[in-house]
Amino acid sequence: MELRLYDTLSREKRTFVPLDAKDVRMYVCGPTVYDFAHIGNARPVIVFDVLFRLLRHLYGEAHVKYVRNITDVDDKINDRAARDFPGLPLNEAIRKVTEQTAKQFHADVDALGCLRPTVEPRATEHIGEMREIIERLVAGRFAYPAEDHVLFSPQAMNAMSAANSELPRYGALSKRSLDEMIAGARVDVAPYKRDATDFVLWKPSKPGEPSWPSPAGIAAQGRPGWHIECSAMAWKHLGEHFDIHGGGIDLVFPHHENEVAQTCCAFHRERMANYWMHNGFLQVESEKMSKSLGNFVTIHELLADWPGEVLRLNMLKTHYRSPIDWTLKNLEESSKTLDEWYRDVADVEPSDDIDPDFLNSLLDDLNTAGAIKRLHEISPVMRLSQSRLDDWGGETAQRYKKSAAMLLGLLPQSATARSEQMRSRAGIDPAKVAALLAARSEARARKDFAESDRIRDLLAAMGVAIKDSKEGTTWEVAR
Ligand code: AMP
Ligand code: ZN
Repeated sequence: MELRLYDTLSREKRTFVPLDAKDVRMYVCGPTVYDFAHIGNARPVIVFDVLFRLLRHLYGEAHVKYVRNITDVDDKINDRAARDFPGLPLNEAIRKVTEQTAKQFHADVDALGCLRPTVEPRATEHIGEMREIIERLVAGRFAYPAEDHVLFSPQAMNAMSAANSELPRYGALSKRSLDEMIAGARVDVAPYKRDATDFVLWKPSKPGEPSWPSPAGIAAQGRPGWHIECSAMAWKHLGEHFDIHGGGIDLVFPHHENEVAQTCCAFHRERMANYWMHNGFLQVESEKMSKSLGNFVTIHELLADWPGEVLRLNMLKTHYRSPIDWTLKNLEESSKTLDEWYRDVADVEPSDDIDPDFLNSLLDDLNTAGAIKRLHEISPVMRLSQSRLDDWGGETAQRYKKSAAMLLGLLPQSATARSEQMRSRAGIDPAKVAALLAARSEARARKDFAESDRIRDLLAAMGVAIKDSKEGTTWEVAR
């Protein structure tokens, strides 16, 4: 039984071998906290939460360290702070924006059933480490100060890497050559850059903006560029070389390419992470999500309409590397699936074991789509021929279904608690329903069927579906 992961750097699925099975280390780029997170941002959070759970299952909870940062220094944060709190000094306004947004982010991803990472470092608490990496890069002639900036030179890195095969080539992760990058118009040209491909490690702050003492002998105060933040936080919490680095596919270039360059050049390493994992993009109703198209949807808005678990299952139905089309139709299906699964598992305790077919899907590059297909098969009522389920009683299947679902972070509550949750989400007062049901059974007892039908219609209008059986009458939220 081995875990295989697709590595963006080698472009193949490889067997995962941790550097230290007692200390498996994963870094995932986290949010820049200036606004509500959208449902696309939720994808890496959910995907790498499943990987975190799987690694904990394989190596033991105490042996997996998951670091996901919070970027709390950024131009977008400064702009938002100035706009939302014009009366406050900028630094105070920035603190308000980052605190509120980080709190909202946590509320959102908690509701999506994501475990908190082992460490959630903030960029502003790691400026010292950033300065130290920058000093090392300048000393190694990979970087240079110019007009109060410090710039990293990919050309210098590649000259060095040609002479020293230990060092990777700039562009290896994103499979781009420097010549292509020079030709590409997307590279920023600024007067203080020696080459168009040079990128910023450190930059000056404007008056009133957050600022720290600068590295490389620069007298003016300044602030870090974005890429250096992740190199610094990963180094501090996971070391110079660790197992897995993840994020969305859009981060491969330039963000991850630059992280590799900074870390490998500062520490004379061939690699930063052994496996680079990237989730595909999410689009909404077959269109790219954007504010101008009006289809930009936040996690917060979706949570008003759907339980977080529905959003989570909906995300995991697609393999993480494929693009995902986020549609209302799929959400409705996911909601129905969860209703069925909660009925299937009732209130059983999870099994101590995990169904092997289910686990094998996850071990194959986190194939959650295959794992979910298997979850559909494990059912206490359906007896599957040619399957090991033939030997199981109904309750065994229930318990296996529950333990498998829980490895995906699904079915975390009892079926009873779930139906309470659905009732309260629908705004239905259980005491009122109970009173109406009592009145209805009295009406039925005295054969006043007009009245009992009237009560049934009243309940239906409230969104309550009732079911009569020999044992009595039960109710649930109508779908
Ligand atoms: P950002 O706030 O844009 O830096 O994004 C935070 C994380 O969300 C990064 O890992 C991005 O790659 C990821 N991300 C942003 N938009 C999408 C999207 N539409 N689909 C999937 N992942 C996304
Ligand atoms: Zn990052």
